[in-house]
Amino acid sequence: MTIRLYNTLTRRKEEFEPREEGAVAMYVCGPTVYNHVHIGNARTFLTFDVIRRYLEWRGFDVTYVQNITDIDDKIIARAAEEGSSAEEVARVYTEAFLDAMRELGVAKPTAQPRATETIPEMIEMTERLIEREHAYVVGGDVYFSVRSFAGYGRLSGRDIEEVRSGARVDVDERKSDPLDFALWKAAKPGEPHWPSPWGEGRPGWHLECSVMSEKELGVSFDIHGGASDLIFPHHENEIAQSEAATGQPFARYWLHGGLLQVNAEKMSKSLGNFMLLRDVLDRYPAPVVRLLMLQTHYRSPLDFSLDRLDEARAAYERIETLIRNIRWTRGTTPTMEGRSEEERERLTAAISGAQDSFVAEMDDDFNTAGALGALFELVRAANTFMTASDSALATADLVALSDVEDVLVESLGALGVEIGGARQQGYPPEVVELARELAGYRGDDPAGAVDALLAARAVARTERNWAAADAVRDGLARFGISVEDTAQGARITLAPRS
Ligand SMILES: [Zn+2]
Repeated sequence: MTIRLYNTLTRRKEEFEPREEGAVAMYVCGPTVYNHVHIGNARTFLTFDVIRRYLEWRGFDVTYVQNITDIDDKIIARAAEEGSSAEEVARVYTEAFLDAMRELGVAKPTAQPRATETIPEMIEMTERLIEREHAYVVGGDVYFSVRSFAGYGRLSGRDIEEVRSGARVDVDERKSDPLDFALWKAAKPGEPHWPSPWGEGRPGWHLECSVMSEKELGVSFDIHGGASDLIFPHHENEIAQSEAATGQPFARYWLHGGLLQVNAEKMSKSLGNFMLLRDVLDRYPAPVVRLLMLQTHYRSPLDFSLDRLDEARAAYERIETLIRNIRWTRGTTPTMEGRSEEERERLTAAISGAQDSFVAEMDDDFNTAGALGALFELVRAANTFMTASDSALATADLVALSDVEDVLVESLGALGVEIGGARQQGYPPEVVELARELAGYRGDDPAGAVDALLAARAVARTERNWAAADAVRDGLARFGISVEDTAQGARITLAPRS
């Protein structure tokens, strides 16, 4: 089976054929570090993290490059607002960005170059473009000449003449075409600056992606990603710079992530629905945020809300409870009989069905929504299997359930959704105190505390000490943890929070 992906450049789904067999070279536009990451940005970075993880899971050797724009007009403006320096603003928000990505479980890119560390290479590409007559110098500024590049507008599918006539001509009279954009900007007083053949200045934003991708991945690399609002002009400009400088095609597949809305409205500070990633992660564990975002195809608009986060949390807890219950069955004593042949076959079919659908959906332009749907089908089938009858499980039943666990953990892992990640947050820290009191527990991990309480209750029951056994059950119930006695022993369920 092959992977098919939607290429913005050709406007159709194409079979993915990497430049080099078995390897993928991938570039994704990173953040401009002048504020905290909001959840709209987070969606883009999560999308490409999942695409990268899935390609790796499918056996590709992925080189993933993402830039950090640490010098830009917005950073300079923020520094003026805060009364600090552009360097300080960039330092603070780069750190905040890296922390937020770590917390969201986004894997570290293979390379994460910063604009301020790539100045000589940016000067070099600007010189190349001047030499090839694709750029011109006006005073201390250097502009790219859009008219000199025939393919301009191909990615965005815009009629460039129309865009040109609509462009405001008063922006910069020194440009020979309103669409021309800066490769190098002369420094204004008080701004950070670097020496160049055109005087002290700083690079333009579009330039860094062309330079860093060529430096890290070479020409005609495989996948270029970013949010769809970057298609014009940013990605159009990247293509113009790179293809004009190298004479080679730039990226081969262009993938664009859809935008995010909050409560069905565009997120904006004025509407009061502006959400920062770190605030969301304070209230919901990363796997839950991931699960919510992956329930929508990456190219579609995503509706984000606290209600949907609560639903995602309940869905996540359903998976965790199942996995926990499966792990618990391993401690039970198998019987000869177990489930009926028919029940077992139904579960086995559900397992292979889920595996096949997961891969088929993901291979089809990374349809995470379909892939998760396939996994939830399996969760349902396994729950039915486990609660089908009160008789104990046979060895073959335990093996089948073990397979369910493997498929779920492995497939969700390919999407970066960690099982067990929210478990600790699922149990309130107060259970530790309860376990100390009733079970002589000495640790401080809520999950360990619950295990200790269940063990203490099992001992109490064999000793027919009903009062002690009930104390454990009632204590856990106060935290929304219910204990159910089955033929195989005690099974616990964590009540979904409202
Ligand atoms: Zn870029």
